[in-house]
Amino acid sequence: MMTPYLLRLLCLCLAAFFVIHSAVGLVVSLGGAVAMRAARRMRPRSAGRFLLALRLLPAAVALLVVGGLCVPSYLWLESEGGAEEVGAGCLAAAMLAAALWTLSTARGVRAAVRSARHARQSERLGRRSTLPGSPLHGSPLPVWIVDAPGPLLALVGVFGSRLLISRPVMSALSPAQLAAALRHEEAHRVSRDNLKRLLMLLAPGLLPGFHGFDTIERGWARFTEWAADDDAVAGDAHLSLSLAAALVRIARLAGTPPALPLAASFLGDSREISARVDRLLSPAPAAPVRPRNGAAVATGVALAAGCAACMLHPATLAYAHGIIEQLIH
Ligand SMILES: [Zn+2]
Repeated sequence: MMTPYLLRLLCLCLAAFFVIHSAVGLVVSLGGAVAMRAARRMRPRSAGRFLLALRLLPAAVALLVVGGLCVPSYLWLESEGGAEEVGAGCLAAAMLAAALWTLSTARGVRAAVRSARHARQSERLGRRSTLPGSPLHGSPLPVWIVDAPGPLLALVGVFGSRLLISRPVMSALSPAQLAAALRHEEAHRVSRDNLKRLLMLLAPGLLPGFHGFDTIERGWARFTEWAADDDAVAGDAHLSLSLAAALVRIARLAGTPPALPLAASFLGDSREISARVDRLLSPAPAAPVRPRNGAAVATGVALAAGCAACMLHPATLAYAHGIIEQLIH
């Protein structure tokens, strides 16, 4: 197919994204079980960060190569004169990448809109409360008590999050259990877990109709709950007991909580509740915290700067342009 200069660039960017994303994504997807074994040896917060980085890695690497190599080498070395042939393979890869981005963007936007609508509705119908919670950091969490019949206790929203609590939950928990549950949700807010959820929704799957990263996303959700439990109890045996009791009491309430997108529900995945209660009642000795290594950070920055310099070197761009020519045709 004959295409003009800028359309060819768009086609090339999408095709290159698809090829790199598929290659890195396949490695990440196939290595899901190995990654989970590695994550189990880490502290929950580090395990969550590790799995989130793995989940976002394919899109990040693909975007970096497209933005750092494909676009500059094309603009620098591809002549603007006239239309040029684009091969069927390149076109197919570009269309697949466009489909992946359309699906993931729609998924993220739909979740954000539903979450905002639900929060607005709850504010209209509920009552704002100042509960005697124990904020971990800074100002207390805005809390809305709503008339929902089910066991609802969740932090909703990405920015300016708020906590929604249904009346059955308020009645079921003692003040100490409610305070422990609030600390758990506060921990989700402090670590911006709903924003991480949104990033994962926006990151494309492996193929249209095949996500491929379920193991990593489920693992992230598990370790994120464990980390919020750990932050909430901060090693205090009484808080651990209160939090475990709150989990059991809410899990026993009749009804199912509404499925909210972009929300950190206190119960989380119902299949994980007994494991969380066990952890709270018999905490394993924590893995040692390694102090942040200044030399490692400096090495990382130097490596990144070296990579950027290599990518923008004329020889690298010329080599990339050679590959691009093959990809286009
Ligand atoms: Zn949670």
